[in-house]
Formats: sequence, structure tokens, C-alpha cells
Amino acid sequence: MAGIYIHIPFCKTRCTYCDFYTGTNETQMDAFVDALCTEAGIRKDEIPERVETIYFGGGTPSRLRQEHLEKIFDTLHNHFSIAPDAEITVEANPDDLSEEYVDMLSGLPINRLSIGIQSFDDRELKFLSRRHSARQAIDAVKRCQQHGFGNISIDLMYGLPQQTEEIWQQNLDQAIALNVSHISSYHLIYEEKTRMYSLLQAGRITPVGEEVSTTMFAMLINRLTSHSYIHYEISAFAREGYFSRHNSSYWKNRRYLGLGPAAHSFDGDNRSRNIPSLIRYIKGVESGTLNRETEHLNTSEKYNEMILTGLRTMWGLDLAELSTRFGDKYHRYCMQNAQKYLDGDLLKIEEGILILTRDGIFISDGIMSDLMWID
Ligand code: SF4
Repeated sequence: MAGIYIHIPFCKTRCTYCDFYTGTNETQMDAFVDALCTEAGIRKDEIPERVETIYFGGGTPSRLRQEHLEKIFDTLHNHFSIAPDAEITVEANPDDLSEEYVDMLSGLPINRLSIGIQSFDDRELKFLSRRHSARQAIDAVKRCQQHGFGNISIDLMYGLPQQTEEIWQQNLDQAIALNVSHISSYHLIYEEKTRMYSLLQAGRITPVGEEVSTTMFAMLINRLTSHSYIHYEISAFAREGYFSRHNSSYWKNRRYLGLGPAAHSFDGDNRSRNIPSLIRYIKGVESGTLNRETEHLNTSEKYNEMILTGLRTMWGLDLAELSTRFGDKYHRYCMQNAQKYLDGDLLKIEEGILILTRDGIFISDGIMSDLMWID
């Protein structure tokens, strides 16, 4: 099983908290799509097996026009063996999802939409520099549902400065009322080199305290799981049968090919990243020399990846597999470091699988870093 990730490095405007590789100058979009299709041809032999998932991320893939998407799909079908039931996701911003645009998307081989809503509160949306309003977000989701998209994910953000529990509760209630199949929710992170980080450094905003963050995370879990969403990954909730197959394959260490500037790839032994520069990416592809950095993972790095990806999901870490892949030394190390968390009911073992307990999920970063190997 393999997946393809396609990075679309364009956004209409920049959100204050975002550090993804993206830009607001869309004049290079045609040249970018040409380069992307050329890159797919150059790298087609890297994924000889059947492609089970395709994910358009960004940036804002909903900035692409119909002719761009059609060209990309034609190219992918020419170069790869795509499963007839492949999960094909496109990330979209609510303000791009006009009647015409959604109608166009529904005519393409896209069966999952991931809509970047973040909040249903207009003041919060303004603070985050999102381009849409709460009303636009609600209408966009309903429009997509009316056009037959049954598999819709929305993103929500919590832990914003001045966000109250009441507002967060209202956001969760609104998300549930939309009856989408999947919800991803992340705490605001102050990434360096973002405007939000500068505001923080200048003392113009005050981050929420740890207690508030924990309360909001608990509200998220309680509210969504009581409305038949399954908490299958630290930040992801889905109705039965709607787990993101693409993201699940990242967490299960499967191979994927990343196309476009700044896109990551993984072949089981090596991780690589395309150059995070649109101009240099296009020039490189045009000259037939792909600009990318590759890092070979050694044994301890692969072990650490297994800890990080395994423990963050409800499927947990298969201890027999850990032992087979890395031997007694790593298995012993993992169990020695896990013991205090097992004793404290923060980790549990069920049928040979090491899993975070509900309490453990709240301190998952600390547990995972304690289990990681340090050379
Ligand atoms: S729309 Fe998404 S990718 Fe673009 S700036 Fe905002 S958060 Fe970043």
C-alpha cells in the first residue's frame, strides 16, 4: 500500500499562525502544475505498487482551477496504478467553496474534502486572519454535503488567547451539528517566524495556561466521543469507517511519495524533502534535476519513528513487531522506560499492544519522548 501527497504552495492570504511552505503570489500556478506533472513522471518508479490514497495538501489546494486538477489527475493516472477505491482528499478553504467550485469538484475523482474551518466564532477567525466567516464555513460544509460529499473532515483550533471554555463549547457544538464524518483538532502552536509568534514575543497576546489547555482538550474528547466520534489519533476523531486512510498510513509507517515544493517522501528506509522554494523547485524539475534532501534513517531513528507514530493512535505499538524489527535491546529499552507509565495507568498493554490510556493521552508528548532512544 502506498500514498501520494501533493503540496500546493499557494494561499490567497497568509494566516497569522501558519508556518507551512506557501505563498500568496499565484502567478506561477500554471508553471507549478506543469512542474508537478513533470516531477510525477520523473519519480513514477518510486511507487510501483498500487496507490491507495492521494492527498492534496498545502497551502490551499482549493486555489487550483479545474484545468489544473484535471491535468494532475490525468498525469497521476498515466504514471501510477491507482486503486479504483483510492481515498482522494483535497484540502479546501471555506471561502473557495462556492456553488460553482463545489460543483466542479464533484465531477472529479475526489471523494474526501478536508475543510480548514478552525473556528465558528467570527472574532477568533479574524484574530487568526482566516478569510472566511463562521456563516461561510457552515454554508460551505452544507453545500459540499448537498453535492454528495459524504466524507468531509473539518479542522478546529483550540487554546487561542482569550478563547473561553464557552466559546470552545459552542465551536464543538456547531461542528457536531454539521454531522461531518471526521474532525481534526489542534491546539494553537506559536511557530517561530509567524506573525503570531511576533505578537507573543512583543507581549501583545497572552497564551492560555496549561490548565485551560488541558480542560479544552478534555472537552474536545468528551464532547466528540459522546457523539459517536472515535478518538483514533491524538488530534483526530472520526465516525466508524471514516478514519483518514492517508494519515493512517503515515502513522503505520507506510511508503508515500511527496510531490511539489517542500513535500516529504518516505520509502521505508529514507525520508526526503523537496526544496521549499517554488522558483527553485520549478527550475530544478525543468532541468531534470530534482532539488531534494534525503536522510537515511538508522536503526534508532526507525525505532523512534515507530514509537512516535505507533503510540499516537488507538492501534498502539505492536510489541512483537517492535522486537522483530529492532531486537531485544530496543524492546527491553522500551519496556524499561514504559514501566513507570504502566504502573501509573498512563500506558496499558492489551494483547501485546502498548497503548496510551485516556489519562496518558494528556501527557503523550512526555511519554513518547521518554520511550525514544537517544544515541
Ligand atoms: S490557508 Fe492554511 S496553509 Fe494558507 S496560510 Fe492559512 S493556515 Fe497556512
